[in-house]
Amino acid sequence: MSQAIRKVEYDRPQGAVCSVGQAWARVPDAPSTAERVALKERIRALLKREKAVLVAHYYVDPELQELADETGGCVADSLEMARFGRDHEAQTLVVAGVRFMGETAKILSPNKRILMPDLDATCSLDLGCPIDEFSAFCDEHPDRTVVVYANTSAAVKARADWMVTSSIGLEIVADLHAKGEKILWAPDRHLGSYIQKKTGADMLLWQGSCLVHDEFKGIELDLLRAEYPDAKILVHPESPEGVVALADVVGSTTQLIDAAVKLDAQRFIVATDLGILHKMRLAAPGKTFIEAPTAGNSATCKSCAHCPWMAMNGLANLADVLERGHNEIHVDSALGERARLPIDRMLAFAAEHKRRVQASGDLARDTALFSQVGAA
Ligand code: SF4
Repeated sequence: MSQAIRKVEYDRPQGAVCSVGQAWARVPDAPSTAERVALKERIRALLKREKAVLVAHYYVDPELQELADETGGCVADSLEMARFGRDHEAQTLVVAGVRFMGETAKILSPNKRILMPDLDATCSLDLGCPIDEFSAFCDEHPDRTVVVYANTSAAVKARADWMVTSSIGLEIVADLHAKGEKILWAPDRHLGSYIQKKTGADMLLWQGSCLVHDEFKGIELDLLRAEYPDAKILVHPESPEGVVALADVVGSTTQLIDAAVKLDAQRFIVATDLGILHKMRLAAPGKTFIEAPTAGNSATCKSCAHCPWMAMNGLANLADVLERGHNEIHVDSALGERARLPIDRMLAFAAEHKRRVQASGDLARDTALFSQVGAA
């Protein structure tokens, strides 16, 4: 199967300035219909043979999502993927997503075998936050509590006090702020800025961004809204401020799908990776979903509203990795143990937060909080 190499540009923070970094993505050609049928059959058999479970992100190819669902795996956001893999009896997890997701799965399940279709599938947030520079930044600000987003390497997580997903970042930062703590936040500047405005916390922001969400444009979105005044606008908080400002719901992948089901509207404009539309259409049949406008259809990786690294997950390399057992994720055990601390801290906070909300019976408040921001 041939594979096109795409050049990818991303935001490369260096101190207070942000330059353009150069990366690449190796995107497999789409198989023919006959090849697809054969590959899916092979993957089903190999999952059984290897006693493996497929865990896929909402942004990967719809056929991988369907395979995960039909074979007893899961399709979810990054945190739920890791949680599902940790709690599943399978000793082999195949993670269809990007590298930090495989690493997080390994950190939470150090004794399991974690395979990925392509180990070079990365993320602009992860690439834009190299450990040496980030660590030096932390050292310059020893008075700040270090809070990092899930989209980071194991090494960056190991340098942090807290890891958060966007589903719980707001609550955790609000809690730290209430305790008088000052925050050093990394790597996504848009999500950091959104949380800073919501909480009023003192936050020093690393200047990374997601190359997919960064391309959504507020001016064009406003024009599209005028064209479809009945449509509700669903926005992921990695998007720029001008896009978030137009949202009816700001939320995670999971929260946006939930909103598409629950909101009393027939039409939605969606500002996140277009991979999510597959799940939205399944979850809310009969409703109409429109992609939010990006910089245009100039066919660059940055403006097609689809992550070039998520696109590296294909049927052929998935079958291949199951067949050969290569592309295994390894995380140094000492590093993994250190990186697990900020994740466990978040999970404990989330469990306590849920318990408090349930005990108070204030589910409406909880729902309101979660509709503001959700998991990446
Ligand atoms: S969509 Fe953005 S945040 Fe998600 S993996 Fe791709 S570059 Fe990273």
